[in-house]
Amino acid sequence: MLRKTILMKGIPAAPGLVLGKAFCLGSEDLKVEKRRIPESRIPKEIARFEEALIKTRTEILDIQKKITKEMGIRHAQIFNAHLLVLEDRTLIESVITGLKKEKLCVEYIFLEVLKKYIKTFSHIGDPYLRERLSDIEDVGKRILRNLRGIRREVLSNLKEKLVIVAYDLSPSDTASMRKEKVLGFITDIGGKTSHTAIMAKALEIPAVVGLEEATAKVKTGDTIIIDGTRGEVIINPDRLTLGKYKQRIEELLRRESLLLKLKDLPAVTRDGHKVELAANIELPDELPSVIAHGAQGIGLYRSEYFYMNRVGLPSEDEHFEAYKKVSEQIKPNSVVIRTLDLGGDKFLSQLDIPQEMNPYLGWRAIRFCLARPQIFKAQLRAILRASAYGKLKLMYPMISGIEEFRQANKMLEEVKEELRRKQIAFDKNIEVGAMIEIPSAALTCDILAKEADFFSIGTNDLIQYSIAVDRVNEKIAYLYEPTHPAVLRLIKNVIDAGHKEGIWVGMCGEMASEPAFALLLLGLGLDEFSVSPAAVPLIKRVIRAITLKQARAVARAALALTTGKDIENFSKQKLKELVK
Ligand code: PEP
Ligand code: MG
Repeated sequence: MLRKTILMKGIPAAPGLVLGKAFCLGSEDLKVEKRRIPESRIPKEIARFEEALIKTRTEILDIQKKITKEMGIRHAQIFNAHLLVLEDRTLIESVITGLKKEKLCVEYIFLEVLKKYIKTFSHIGDPYLRERLSDIEDVGKRILRNLRGIRREVLSNLKEKLVIVAYDLSPSDTASMRKEKVLGFITDIGGKTSHTAIMAKALEIPAVVGLEEATAKVKTGDTIIIDGTRGEVIINPDRLTLGKYKQRIEELLRRESLLLKLKDLPAVTRDGHKVELAANIELPDELPSVIAHGAQGIGLYRSEYFYMNRVGLPSEDEHFEAYKKVSEQIKPNSVVIRTLDLGGDKFLSQLDIPQEMNPYLGWRAIRFCLARPQIFKAQLRAILRASAYGKLKLMYPMISGIEEFRQANKMLEEVKEELRRKQIAFDKNIEVGAMIEIPSAALTCDILAKEADFFSIGTNDLIQYSIAVDRVNEKIAYLYEPTHPAVLRLIKNVIDAGHKEGIWVGMCGEMASEPAFALLLLGLGLDEFSVSPAAVPLIKRVIRAITLKQARAVARAALALTTGKDIENFSKQKLKELVK
């Protein structure tokens, strides 16, 4: 039977147009139906529970075997804790007693017991015991999946190219996707600058997020068109629509190849003003794309992805090898490594970071690093050691003021001293910058500019903190405005303060990847644009089509406008007029 065509509008997360078959990923929300069962059914339910426990045990043992082979026994031992949860007599007995008493299906009883466990553990003060919480959650979900007969297909193991449909995807889910396997993805929740969206852009996987009802409307096997640029999704298109989109896909490919012709040309305006046009990366796998799109280096290397999708923390040598490889391949251009920026929507199960009420305002990024000198210094040592092999710069995320910057630099100095003592080579003049992504830093950047070698404006966070709008919440996405006058004023303040002290000011937030905003930013005096690799030719085209004088006039006029919408429309209009 032919299924009905449905058109959905969401938030554009990663550009591109794709057409393919849908694959619905099992939802990981812990919800099950409350089903009554007759007394006679109880033994059967107990048997189902035992089967699920045995199946879960086999799965975990298989994972352990795979990890032992690939990464060594030490890493595999982490899963011993998962096996212990499976053998927990109190947990098993609570389920069986609950079943007999309540006469409800085993999924429901098990989930109730699991929730009680999770609640108890999350209130425990002891960090070691609290860490068991993630083991319990992980194993609990696995048992539940086995009870319900659902498998969360591993995204990295898809057999054919499909469009993924999910309620939500974590940044590490997205990081495990590969372009050869995943055509695109759509999700019910999420925002434009969530790390899931950023990762999709980096991997050049078209995506639309915040669709609210995608999982309710799409079935596995449905034909889907994703327009990641416009944020549109068409489910089961009719023949006419299908034909139209096939033509658009061809046209897009033609345009992309035209843009790539700019690859080897410099990012210079018509009146000779040169800017740095670099790329953001999350993983070293993206280097070929950075080079293919003609970026002049890397303006943001989100090093935390190196800590994800693995068991245990990376060693200093592993860090070193990765940074060395990236800097050697990008030489003579430079690579800005952003030190570990965890928290917000990026989590690591192997680190003891408790769940917080306000993760974006919590113990994250530089705050976490300063409290964990061992972890931080291992990374700093690796960066310094790698700086002997290419041009590396480093920057600290989430700097709120000069004190944090000084504390981080103090640790850096201690590491430098250690390397000197051991006669290990490093770049003595390595530039050290501050990310400006918190309003308090943007407002005190005159102080910071005296001690930092450069600034990189992180608008993804700066916008969320200035307007108090969660960057991953689709319900308030309409408030998330890069062109809000408050944001523009902060950006101008940072650029002016940096220039006054003679340091360069860049931007690595997503705002720099939007052509109309790039025009505005150029006019405000931005020196460096660091954008997703695929956006490099787009931004280069803008820069090469205009004069600095024109851009300055646009910025001046924009600053006189009063609303974000007006500024956005005005910049878009100017872009149309100036860039043909
Ligand atoms: C930013 O906040 O703009 C930024 C570049 O950092 P991230 O997106 O990783 O938080
Ligand atoms: Mg940030």
